[in-house]
Amino acid sequence: MLAIDIPSCYVLAGVGSLVGWGLIAHIQTDQHRVAYALGLYRRAFLCLSGLALIMFTPVAWLPMVTKGAIGLAGMGLGLLAWAFRQLNGRRTAPWFGRVVIWLIGLALWSAAWASDGYYVQCLALVFCAVSLALLLDQGWLILRSARVSPSELSLLVVAGLFALHWVIVAGYAFTTGGPYPPDWLHSPAWLRPWSGVALALLPLSVASVVFAIINERLSQQLRARALSDDLTGALSRRGLRELGERMLALQAHRPSMLAVLMLDIDHFKQVNDEFGHQVGDDVLRHVTQVIRERLRPDALLSRYGGEEFIVLLPVQSQPEAAAAAERLRALVENALCSTKFGKVRVTVSIGVSLHEPHRSLDQDISQADAHLYEAKRQGRNRVVIQA
Ligand code: GH3
Ligand code: MG
Ligand code: MG
Repeated sequence: MLAIDIPSCYVLAGVGSLVGWGLIAHIQTDQHRVAYALGLYRRAFLCLSGLALIMFTPVAWLPMVTKGAIGLAGMGLGLLAWAFRQLNGRRTAPWFGRVVIWLIGLALWSAAWASDGYYVQCLALVFCAVSLALLLDQGWLILRSARVSPSELSLLVVAGLFALHWVIVAGYAFTTGGPYPPDWLHSPAWLRPWSGVALALLPLSVASVVFAIINERLSQQLRARALSDDLTGALSRRGLRELGERMLALQAHRPSMLAVLMLDIDHFKQVNDEFGHQVGDDVLRHVTQVIRERLRPDALLSRYGGEEFIVLLPVQSQPEAAAAAERLRALVENALCSTKFGKVRVTVSIGVSLHEPHRSLDQDISQADAHLYEAKRQGRNRVVIQA
């Protein structure tokens, strides 16, 4: 099998980390949590890139410089684990993170003065612990999330291989006890080529996976913004079209029905005329909030037009749809909106249609609109489900 020179692999890992740092440095975000994680990643890759120094070191200084760079790389690995926690929305108190990172560095640097055997055991133990922490953290996240992206899975695989590598090295260091060869091959002969590949490729593969994860998050965020309405946060018309069609397709395989409710605020123009547009906006946000709080998680709420809303709601029967619409109507009527001019009462008229298999969402909405028109005609603040 190919003979692998571990110091060269360290150098490759260092250079790979510099490239990783460059990759991460180019990502821009306005999300505080992601920006904080990116700062940690940049520091992690800078620490890991210290390994590239080995390339310029005279042979006589090699042990000292390598041990120094490995201490820094240990801190880099700790920073990576912290950055992943931060990216995944788990909080680590900054003081705690810093203490752990410095403890890793100090443990590795102080062990450098001890005998080779002790040094290798300490090194294996620290890297084993940090890479297992990274692996467990990522594994826990994937176990708990409903949807796992390919980049998150590939990170789990990279972290798993890296942790496995260090578990084997730690086992080897503790069972053989030295003496250790001067070429830094702290692993059984069969593992050495893999050790080399793991050490050299880890930073680059982590950097590219992080790049992919952050890219994915940012595009999800853009998508969510495109599908929701700025003023109220409800789905936009476009969002309703996308998610509503999906809901309709799912509904085809279920015994329940889908009710389409079209709500329109009564005499909303008068609110604008009497109190101004800003109060009108407050009322729109208020009505959205009131409806949203009451809806089940499987329902969709969209702001369809100026003061018109559409709710898609799975129901078992027509009377259930009528009762749900009536509850929403009464809820809006009874929840007064606080404005700078005092409490304002608004009411809504609601037209309801039930989805039928041969009809499109647009046809359902047209029918709900016709029923809404009827509700307005009958005097407003009421529900019409059948013309
Ligand atoms: P009806 O009971 O028949 O529905 O009467 P209405 O006054 O509610 O209906 P109309 O369609 O005459 O007026 C709707 C008003 O909604 C007119 C428009 O200025 C207002 N509007 C539409 N979008 C917004 C918005 O984003 N903010 C505010 N403040 N007003 C809006
Ligand atoms: Mg209207
Ligand atoms: Mg109206």
